[in-house]
Amino acid sequence: MQELHDAPLAPLTTFRLGGPATRLLTATTDAEVVAAVREADASGTPLLIIGGGSNLVIGDKGFDGTALRIATEGFTLSGTSLELAAGETWTDAVARTVEAGLAGIECLAGIPGSAGATPIQNVGAYGQEVSSTITEVVAYDRHTRETVTIPNAECSFSYRHSRFKAEPDRFVVLRVRFALEEAGGLSAPLAYPETARAMGVEQGERVPASAARETVLKLRAGKGMVLDPEDHDTWSAGSFFTNPILDAAAYGDFLARVRERLGPDVAPPAFPTGDGRTKTSAAWLIDRAGFTKGYGDGPARISTKHTLALTNRGGATTEDLLALAREVVAGVHAAFGVTLVNEPVTVGVSL
Ligand SMILES: Cc1cc2nc3c(=O)[nH]c(=O)nc-3n(C[C@H](O)[C@H](O)[C@H](O)COP(=O)(O)OP(=O)(O)OC[C@H]3O[C@@H](n4cnc5c(N)ncnc54)[C@H](O)[C@@H]3O)c2cc1C
Repeated sequence: MQELHDAPLAPLTTFRLGGPATRLLTATTDAEVVAAVREADASGTPLLIIGGGSNLVIGDKGFDGTALRIATEGFTLSGTSLELAAGETWTDAVARTVEAGLAGIECLAGIPGSAGATPIQNVGAYGQEVSSTITEVVAYDRHTRETVTIPNAECSFSYRHSRFKAEPDRFVVLRVRFALEEAGGLSAPLAYPETARAMGVEQGERVPASAARETVLKLRAGKGMVLDPEDHDTWSAGSFFTNPILDAAAYGDFLARVRERLGPDVAPPAFPTGDGRTKTSAAWLIDRAGFTKGYGDGPARISTKHTLALTNRGGATTEDLLALAREVVAGVHAAFGVTLVNEPVTVGVSL
């Protein structure tokens, strides 16, 4: 297992931000992962698990403890059953399943990071979420000190959330298993209007899975949502805020604020969640509160391609990023009474 001391963490994150870790281990087998976690826990050393670093905001002071980078490999496809080692690169795995003619995760193409992190926030995009195809997650449970297999029903998946996110210091994901669909090379029914529109079909129709994947990649690239080291709009964690989900009373107050501020005919995006609550769009709120694409004059700014991505233009510090994030949260709250919540995981800092 590779071991480094006083190791910079910024290069391991897509923001390129954050100070060093006291110790950085890189594990390439499940046994190494488990041994490193057991050793840290036995000595009471704080532990930070790092996959692709694409959903992490690490403080400028760094991490006083052991950072464990998961670099395990393993892609096993048997019929429609897929097992991925936690360290596998997610977007490559998606490409391989599409090449094999299988449906179920093709619209999750282009999401950076590791397979092992996908259950943590139930990654989703363009009408698909991993919770629809994950059958079980194999994880090391730091409470019971055993490797456990957790079926989908016990993962408490919801919008950008799961049991793993709710209990952040408990599970280290080792493997993720999926059930994909054999649909004669076709995609799953397209659930997202923008994708269907871009492909010239009705929502709910199937298209060749490879075409769905390519369309999603193209749409994502246009929004700076595919990693490109040359493009500072992608030095981000993707969406910085989750879409707010409001109960009936909060939604009523919000609508009144929108009408008062923007006029009686303005209707914010509204997606009923089926339980009496309504999801609205964080990007819309940010934009309508006056933080438009490219907002900011420092080294941390809103992406020029997408209002929801906060970005490092080069030379930013985590404090620069957090100052921008706090300004956006305060501005949206002042305008609409809604408090935005950050999607990426913060380490040693908070908004
Ligand atoms: C340009 C861009 C676009 C993005 N688009 C999307 C999108 O469309 N949809 C979406 O949902 N997300 C999106 N994201 C966010 C991010 O890519 C995902 O959340 C991804 O799953 C994070 O994976 P990672 O390996 O980089 O995790 P990291 O950033 O390394 O870690 C994130 C969290 O998961 C924990 N973690 C990582 N691996 C493990 C493990 N094996 N076991 C236990 N805990 C672990 C970490 O400790 C941390 O708390 C985007 C990010 C970027 C930069």
